[in-house]
Amino acid sequence: MSQSTPLQLPDATTDKFGRPMRDLRISVTDRCNFRCTYCMPAEIFGERYEFLPKPEILNFEEIERLARIFVGLGVNKLRITGGEPLVRAQLPALIERLVTIVGVEDVALTTNGFLLAKMAADLKQAGLQRITVSLDSLDEEVAKKMSGRPYGPEKTLEGIEEAARVGLAPIKIDAVVQRGENEHTIVDMARRFRGTGHIVRFIEYMDVGNRNGWKLDQVVTAMEIIERIGEEFPLEPVEPNYRGEVATRYRYKDGSGEIGVIASVSMPFCGDCTRARLTTDGRLVTCLFASGGKDLKSLLRGGASDEEIAAAISAVWSNRSDRYSELRESNTDWSGGDAGGSEGEKRKKIEMYQIGG
Ligand code: SF4
Repeated sequence: MSQSTPLQLPDATTDKFGRPMRDLRISVTDRCNFRCTYCMPAEIFGERYEFLPKPEILNFEEIERLARIFVGLGVNKLRITGGEPLVRAQLPALIERLVTIVGVEDVALTTNGFLLAKMAADLKQAGLQRITVSLDSLDEEVAKKMSGRPYGPEKTLEGIEEAARVGLAPIKIDAVVQRGENEHTIVDMARRFRGTGHIVRFIEYMDVGNRNGWKLDQVVTAMEIIERIGEEFPLEPVEPNYRGEVATRYRYKDGSGEIGVIASVSMPFCGDCTRARLTTDGRLVTCLFASGGKDLKSLLRGGASDEEIAAAISAVWSNRSDRYSELRESNTDWSGGDAGGSEGEKRKKIEMYQIGG
């Protein structure tokens, strides 16, 4: 898969909790064709909303150069996110660049699947290995409400089928579960993908960004999700595939596959978090709930060498002490339904659509 000579860079850095940097999530656009209520509510992100102008976003050459430097520092997994990455023009050309980087073991992508049926073959051809599709419900009205768009899940389901047909299987299907919105449809989701080989991962609703008005009583916990599904399809826990795996795995006792739960609120996993994020405009962000990031674009465009940029990245990571979800959880009074108000909750956070979930 990989041709070009690796960069000679300093040894991989670990952060203040000894966590290495292994995963880089690259947001290739801040734009999206959906308006999911928990991320980019339509009433705020209307038709006139001003997204980043083109000169402000990293071009493919810059993304590739930064990815190469991160890989030189120990990253081996790249995930392409957004906004919605499939709205970025020529995306397969970027994938072709990234899969050639020596040291990259995995290139994956997260999409809402709306454009996937049309693009799956080109993405696969470009070298994409894995795909995660966000789909919150199979119920037409629920899907419309949560995506903030007048179309149900059909297009996304077609995209999943086509992605499987071209060989991007098994596919992970991520569903955010929000009380009062879609918890009554999660068993249908499990039933639909059971026996297909695809893995549905149910995500606890999180206080990402600053716009979704998050409340603890809207969180359906991982335990409740497992109970609901387990009533109809008995489940048993499965060992993680690797350290730092985000989802907790369960398999159907009848052997018809597995599901996952991503429990950032009730069972935080900061201890093994090895994820760095690159925003669309070139900032290094060290946590999904961070309030800021290190500007790498100015270094890139200011003539800095790879070694200087690597040193800047290492300095940020070695000073990293993020564990937002753990702090939130330790301050949460589940009996009172109060999320306690860890300091982080009050601070202004980077919006999820700028750093990709
Ligand atoms: S809250 Fe931050 S540190 Fe914790 S798992 Fe999520 S991204 Fe990692």
